[in-house]
Amino acid sequence: MKKVIFIAAILFTAIYTKAQHINAASAIDKKVDALLAKMTLEEKVGQMTQVTLDVILKTGPDKKAIQPLQIDTDKLKEAILVHHVSSILNVSGGAATREVWYQLISTIEQFAARDRLKIPVIYGIDAMHGMNYTVGATLFPQEIGMAATFNPELAEREGEITAYETRASYIPWNFSPVLDLGRNALWPRIYETFGEDPFLAKTMGAAVIKGYQGNDIGNKYKVASCMKHYLGYSFPLDGKDRTPAWIPDRYMREYFLPSFAAAVKAGAKSVMINSSEINGIPVHASHYLLTDVLRGELKFDGIAVSDWQDIIYLHDRHHVAATQKDAVMIAINAGIDMSMVPYNYTFCDYLLQLVKEGKVPMSRINESVKRILKVKYELGLFEHPVGNPGDYPKFGSAEFEQASLKSATESITLLKNNNNLLPLKKDMKVLVTGPSANTMQALDGGWSYTWQGNFSDKFAADKNTILKAISQKIGAANVSFEPGSSFDSLENVDAAVKAAKNADVIVLCLGERSYAENPGNIDDLDLPMAQQQLANELAKTGKPIILVMAEGRPRIITGIESQSAATIMTYLSGNEGGNALADILFGDANPSGRLPFTYPRHANALVNYYRKNIENGNSDDGHGYNPLYEFGYGLSYTSFSYSNLHTSKPDLKDGESLSISVDVKNTGSREGKESVLLYISEEYASVTPDTKRLRGFQKIDLQPNETRTVTFKIMPKDIAFINDMSQSVTEAGEFTIRLGDQTQTFVYKTNVAPSRTGRL
Ligand code: BGC
Repeated sequence: MKKVIFIAAILFTAIYTKAQHINAASAIDKKVDALLAKMTLEEKVGQMTQVTLDVILKTGPDKKAIQPLQIDTDKLKEAILVHHVSSILNVSGGAATREVWYQLISTIEQFAARDRLKIPVIYGIDAMHGMNYTVGATLFPQEIGMAATFNPELAEREGEITAYETRASYIPWNFSPVLDLGRNALWPRIYETFGEDPFLAKTMGAAVIKGYQGNDIGNKYKVASCMKHYLGYSFPLDGKDRTPAWIPDRYMREYFLPSFAAAVKAGAKSVMINSSEINGIPVHASHYLLTDVLRGELKFDGIAVSDWQDIIYLHDRHHVAATQKDAVMIAINAGIDMSMVPYNYTFCDYLLQLVKEGKVPMSRINESVKRILKVKYELGLFEHPVGNPGDYPKFGSAEFEQASLKSATESITLLKNNNNLLPLKKDMKVLVTGPSANTMQALDGGWSYTWQGNFSDKFAADKNTILKAISQKIGAANVSFEPGSSFDSLENVDAAVKAAKNADVIVLCLGERSYAENPGNIDDLDLPMAQQQLANELAKTGKPIILVMAEGRPRIITGIESQSAATIMTYLSGNEGGNALADILFGDANPSGRLPFTYPRHANALVNYYRKNIENGNSDDGHGYNPLYEFGYGLSYTSFSYSNLHTSKPDLKDGESLSISVDVKNTGSREGKESVLLYISEEYASVTPDTKRLRGFQKIDLQPNETRTVTFKIMPKDIAFINDMSQSVTEAGEFTIRLGDQTQTFVYKTNVAPSRTGRL
């Protein structure tokens, strides 16, 4: 009886909560409709306009914003009272303090309250790995590091903390997460992604959105998320940012769409559009992607915001619009709701004229304005446009710092550990060397305090670089430091070699200087020559080298890596990255990160792990798939064995599910975490099947000798692929499961005959 009452109570609560949400949603819809009915065309167009903070700031004689930032009220009047601007974004110069943010946002909202309809401004920011534009906030590993944890709980926690600290900075809208698939090693935004695998990206993306938004973005600790950059941004043919991509529809749906589809399901409130072009069509001009797919298929009903200046660029860069005014017409008719203009009000003027001329229908304007107002209501901005400074006692707290440390620790990936050199003993003499050894720039990367992350050593001066963390861990007397080189030129390499002779081991920290977007473009994936020379000189000393790569993308290290005794990938592990690495080097933590991308062996051998059979190469040409380290690779200080892989039945049929279980045992002598990665591949299909595809993962924690049975449940849709008619299908046939070193097959049986057009 008790059980029945308990279940009834749970059901009642669930139904009641759902009903409350539906009521709240329809109440908001009513408010939106009522407000829309009062709006003039000018006010509506203003709601679709977003400008950058610099447009309303006081400037000095050098035309730069004066510091600390202050609003120029004449400029703000023009933005709000003349143009009824809906949204402001960005930061100017470098990170601001919470106090400065309070001044800025309160002033903006005071002016919004003076406008005829008192519609609050929605402020947006790129809080990409923590609230990276507020002094003293908690900086996490970049998304690529979060992906390496293979732990969605950590991604959700990061989302929660970022949301908290973003709202603590009085900002309700976060232009994050990046859901582009990081599968072109050259692309300078790889580190902003969750790596190359669609399943990993969609799982981590949905988790971080849950953390940002919770169940109610009106909560003072939650923000609206923005999935970006829809769609196909990450796969430019030449690897350079914002350059053309050629992605067939089938391929787009197979690899690039799933993370966005999952984010829509997770309730993402907004989307930012890919600045570039796919198959010759700039995405800002694509009715197909912006309306047919995004709205029609994915059923997304949030705000679609352009990326930086991208409507203007339809004319200026892409040349698909003969004038800037035509560019506005094309983009709005394609489905953009808000233009990140961002420097002036020409967008407002053009859009007004276009509506009056009948070139943009009023229905399109109303649709966009409704979406924008809805999110503003949901965020609670009409009641509380500015948060209460006292509500955020945990901002920059030790609790949040610990969460960042945990993420960094679980992200760091041990790629090689010859003769169990690691962990090191704390009484060893260590030479710390290399350009990434003593700078926070190499740990934080871009989008850290400034766009390019070039002031991290100033803003994060109280945080530990790798050198500082190692010195704290084992005492300065055991540590020597010689940089040996900068990121691109040798610097007193002799001193480093000399110091190596007196050390037991060398911790050689190489990698990349911080960058973001276009400034991070490279022509060569090879690690700069100076760093390779430093490694070669140090190798000659015969001292064991622990190679630490602090980098946002896999720079080629094949020549030097063969000389290292141990190799560790830190990615861009954030403000606690130095401490996390020191914990791992000296055994206070056991590494558990796994590569979220393929580490190429050669600069021109860029094949992802979910390659086609034919890319495996054949035995005599020697040029098949042979990366330095494969996606999903990562070692531990303990060892795990897999056994007893079995399925709940031999066949999977339509409408059924299949359980797949495996026993994982910690066979080593210390506790460790293991990411159990489930790969399934179809042997034969109407579209060439991928050799391997990740279809599930679970991270477990095992004590020595402990065994855990890990179970995955899959439905036919979980092993589907996109056929040549762009449909998601699961075809009958034999599938191979891979879990650790275990394999097993099962057969999928269906009555649905495969359909194919036979066209290319
Ligand atoms: C980037 C976006 C970012 C926007 C606003 C653009 O250049 O592509 O990711 O959200 O700027 O800062």
